[in-house]
Amino acid sequence: MAGILILHTGGTIGMRLGAHGLQPDPEFCATLQVHLKQVLTPQQPVSIKTLAPIDSANLQPAHWQNMAHALLENWDDYTGIVILHGTDTLAWSASALSFMLQGADKPVIFTGAQIPLARSGSDAPANLRLALHAAAQPQLRETCIAFGGSLLRGNRARKTSAQNFAAFTSSNYPTLGAVSDDGIPAFHVERFLPAGQKSFSIPHFRPRAVALLPLYPGVSGDSVRALLANPELRAIVLQSYGSGNVPDSDTDFIDSLHTAHARGILLANSTQCPHGRVTQGAYATSHVLDQLGVIPLADMTPEAAHAKLHFLLASTDNRPQIVADLQRSLAGEVSPFVSPSTPPLPQPV
Ligand code: ASP
Repeated sequence: MAGILILHTGGTIGMRLGAHGLQPDPEFCATLQVHLKQVLTPQQPVSIKTLAPIDSANLQPAHWQNMAHALLENWDDYTGIVILHGTDTLAWSASALSFMLQGADKPVIFTGAQIPLARSGSDAPANLRLALHAAAQPQLRETCIAFGGSLLRGNRARKTSAQNFAAFTSSNYPTLGAVSDDGIPAFHVERFLPAGQKSFSIPHFRPRAVALLPLYPGVSGDSVRALLANPELRAIVLQSYGSGNVPDSDTDFIDSLHTAHARGILLANSTQCPHGRVTQGAYATSHVLDQLGVIPLADMTPEAAHAKLHFLLASTDNRPQIVADLQRSLAGEVSPFVSPSTPPLPQPV
């Protein structure tokens, strides 16, 4: 067991200009080989494997299974893994892999780029350098994102910039590492996940089982009923306001949640705020959710919540187990839950 596996799945890093815009470059792996030899010169041997590269806007939950299978086929042959992925849905994939690879004994590092590797001025070399460094850290045993000079826990990160090199932010968990001005990465080992029991599972995802519903002024019961028209729907993650609030004075909207609940749809609550947590019941406008049995997701990102629900629903039909697992950390994706009586007042930084 030695060396790093790079698994290419697509994204801007490996794109070139086509007739209608950027698209996957079929020659990318050859370009990457040359780059690794001439520019990056990694300390460890590197092997490259590829799945059919996509623009990650086309990602489906089934792609998570393909990625996980490709990793597990080669798991014991490498000390660390780097996955090249489009940035658009990278946070979802990093979350999904973190749940499938619980108790991993080596690093799985997602990276990509805002500018293709083959173009001058690309951020890809710096991202690859950090990813390869992180993939060689023996104490790192989790799924991460190396991007824009930061190493982030994968299931805590969100894409927060469409163009900036620092495209990802982890607002509710500190960075696991960062590249200093002199280009040397430093890692915060004390923030890494502790070693855990290896428990890998690649369930068969049902692509339409989970929906996200962002709230906005004017949202109505029709939005919920439109989701319920999908017969395969099993769960809805509300992206609520602030501390977990919903328009409780809109009786049609609340009725539609009751209808969903009565149909057996699992309802969960994550905040649409980039930072902070759901404290359901702190405001009267979220009290109704407690009555409905909506599961508050504390400081989990909507991406992690969506991927986690997919993972849990594909893994078991045991509803109490799903509800219990949703509310505890499986892979560092959520901070300990706090009592709803915690005041919702701003906390000093
Ligand atoms: N659309 C691209 C993708 O997600 C964007 C990127 O990679 O930065 O595949």
